[in-house]
Amino acid sequence: QRVLLTGANGFVGSHILGQLLAQGSSVRSVVRSQAKADQVLADFPSYGSKLDCAIVPDLTAAGAFDQAVISTPSFDTVIHTASPFLYRVAKNASDFLDPAIKGTLEVLKSVKAHAPEVKRIVITSSCAAVVDFTADPFASPQKVYTEDDWNPMTVEKALGAENLNFFYQVSKKYAEKSAWDFLEQEKPNFDLVTITPPMIYGPLHHSVKSVKELNQSNGRIYDLFINSSKTADVPPNGMHVYTDVREVAEAHVKAATMPEASNQRFIICAGRISSQNICDLLREAFPELSERTPEGKKGDPGLSPTAYTCSSQRAMDTLGIQFRSPKETFVELAKQLLEIEKSS
Ligand code: NDP
Repeated sequence: QRVLLTGANGFVGSHILGQLLAQGSSVRSVVRSQAKADQVLADFPSYGSKLDCAIVPDLTAAGAFDQAVISTPSFDTVIHTASPFLYRVAKNASDFLDPAIKGTLEVLKSVKAHAPEVKRIVITSSCAAVVDFTADPFASPQKVYTEDDWNPMTVEKALGAENLNFFYQVSKKYAEKSAWDFLEQEKPNFDLVTITPPMIYGPLHHSVKSVKELNQSNGRIYDLFINSSKTADVPPNGMHVYTDVREVAEAHVKAATMPEASNQRFIICAGRISSQNICDLLREAFPELSERTPEGKKGDPGLSPTAYTCSSQRAMDTLGIQFRSPKETFVELAKQLLEIEKSS
């Protein structure tokens, strides 16, 4: 299998790249600059001609991917993960919406026009496109989101609220919707799969030189749970549904080829986790965090029993995804974050 992978230097993209290469696929990684291409090649040094890079400096430019999608041998699959999620970089609505929506459409257009052999495109969407953030998160009976749900937020409402979370949510919703619309209207040679994870945590596969360079979700863990203090308030739960990056990558890799995945959305959600749960896991595993991680009320669930969740039933049944324990996710992540902190 030959795969074109966008966002290959990011947190999620580098795990997908690692799993694709490990299973013997040949991959072209799309990144924004030569320096980022060099870093990808340095992070995955032993794959020779199985790994090459293409540079697309601006994924919103017309025809941005026209060159990248052309290859001999040709691509079978495209996996599109690149999209803005860094709140220290994306500051306004267009910083989120343009790369997410136009970027997705540019990938689809270039594939349709120049890579007719591509059979499937897998897109990293998000539970931000699924969950209704205006609903009571603790409503009874418990709300269990499925692939039939869409976040009702509109661009107009998001613009009115001037809230980065809303900008991100609509960027993911309309990027995914644009892809499904493209499929219906343009009837290309490829089919589509979208992967919709909630908050993604877990160990890093790409090089990160400093804790200041962490991706959005893992940066949250460092800032609020590691670089804090025993007596600080336990952080708000935020989006309390989460999953491990390794399962997210596995879902992309399996969805790339399984015939049964055709034209489906897949929620990849390990379950719910409260900030108190995360504090307890970290404090128990790392004596050096006893003065740095909020203590709160040890053992308290920290979340209402009716707090909403997202069902991964389809991913378990169709893709065979099994979820690791929260301990594995958060302890392995924190160990690595402490190492990055020490070496930077
Ligand atoms: P990272 O920030 O680690 O990676 C994002 C990737 O997208 C990088 O390759 C980045 O390139 C690229 N990118 C970001 N903004 C732009 C832009 N304006 N133009 C071109 N490329 C851009 O984040 P993640 O790995 O966490 O995110 C990957 C995908 O997963 C995204 O689609 C995100 O929405 C989705 N997702 C992430 C979740 C999470 O909790 N982390 C949850 C659910 C979905 P560069 O390095 O050059 O900036």
